Amino acid sequence: MRLSRSLIPTLKEIPAEAQIVSHRLMLRAGMVRQTASGIYAWLPAGLRVLQKISAIVRQEQNAAGVQELLMPTIQSADLWRESGRYDVYGKEMLRITDRHERELLYGPTNEEMITALVRDSVKTYRDLPQSLYHIQWKFRDEGRPRFGVLRGREFLMKDAYSFDLDYEGAVLSYRRMMLAYMRTFQRLGVRAIPMVADTGPIGGDLSHEFHVLAPTGESQVFYDSAFEDLDLNSANLDYENPDDMAAFFQRATNIYAATDEKHDSEAWAKIPADRKREGRGIEVGQIFYFGPKYSQAMGFSLAGPDGSKIIPEMGSYGIGVSRLVGAIIEASHDDAGIIWPDAVAPFSVALLNLKPGDAACDAMCEDIYRQFGDDILYDDRSERAGAKFAEADLMGHPWQIIVGPRGAAAGMVELKRRASGERFELPRAAALAKLQPGAA
Ligand code: ATP
Ligand code: MG
Repeated sequence: MRLSRSLIPTLKEIPAEAQIVSHRLMLRAGMVRQTASGIYAWLPAGLRVLQKISAIVRQEQNAAGVQELLMPTIQSADLWRESGRYDVYGKEMLRITDRHERELLYGPTNEEMITALVRDSVKTYRDLPQSLYHIQWKFRDEGRPRFGVLRGREFLMKDAYSFDLDYEGAVLSYRRMMLAYMRTFQRLGVRAIPMVADTGPIGGDLSHEFHVLAPTGESQVFYDSAFEDLDLNSANLDYENPDDMAAFFQRATNIYAATDEKHDSEAWAKIPADRKREGRGIEVGQIFYFGPKYSQAMGFSLAGPDGSKIIPEMGSYGIGVSRLVGAIIEASHDDAGIIWPDAVAPFSVALLNLKPGDAACDAMCEDIYRQFGDDILYDDRSERAGAKFAEADLMGHPWQIIVGPRGAAAGMVELKRRASGERFELPRAAALAKLQPGAA
């Protein structure tokens, strides 16, 4: 994309309405604009991040055998009356009446809808297990929308739902999803620790929240630093092998990690002092086993092989896709701006032409720009060099290719790595080779 023709309205001033760094940086880097309280328009650079995160989430869900579908944002109130949640959900639900006086709502979550869809689609116990997900906008009329996209009212969520014939199957689905989440967050370039979480009125111990550590997080979290050394991703784990999933789950949950709601001071006391970590976390995902709660209430049952009645066991699994954009920035920035992990940067590379109009600079930049495809932002504006450097640092592109007149005449460019600040003077071809996927 050419910056001269892009809608990336960066700001020099620090926006007064933004209390935390990710919100400030997202506004300053021209990624989003608020259009109503807790509701954001995603401008081109912001949308690219959202799309890159969504793509990784999607790939890892698919790899775990979860099927993508797309459910609507608008749901009927009657569906929620079936589960009994219409009246108890409270003010967070945005309720709508259509021209025929029918009651609708903007979905805050989709347990009811998916339960009805699967109930009405499967015929025999042989059709189970099923697990399905979508990546769709949600609306929750939060009492205090704040911190930009971290707590919005309209936000993008990946929500998945599993249906199994028995408890054992449901636990397997849960473990698979936990592994898929660990892999997803690792690929996104962010550390998210699974913490034992409150299961609410349903009880049981099968819920985990995934927290990204950041001082601005809303939850108090406690964990054993052994988590930092745990590598759960490299092992050759097969989603289809229940023993693999059990071994993985055992390792992932053996190490102490809990939010304050589930903090166990006795277990905590047993951890060596030098391994205790306490801080703030941002919840970027939650996985939940809740058994037959919705299937039972909504009349979803199947005849088993021996004719007995089976009420499917369910779980639900969310990832806050739009919240992740802010959470990643909270975890990865400096005074100059955002430091994007490679996988989610709006553009992997910024190409800075320090002297547009100079024949050698223009020729070299046009050439690099053409070669690179879609993942490069070409700063072709006639701004001073200092302003270009500052904006590239603010926007946080993992790499900058800097082309000045002296270097261009000699066939050289400067390459800058945003995260480390390292700079390399290289012949053009060597610089581009360094940027090929995997070479970084
Ligand atoms: P919170 O405790 O932060 O209000 P929640 O536990 O109510 O979140 P879930 O129902 O678990 O949220 O939703 C799944 C995921 O969706 C959360 O882990 C979070 O990442 C994201 N999410 C929830 N509410 C919001 C919101 N208001 N804005 C942005 N993301 C959200
Ligand atoms: Mg939650």
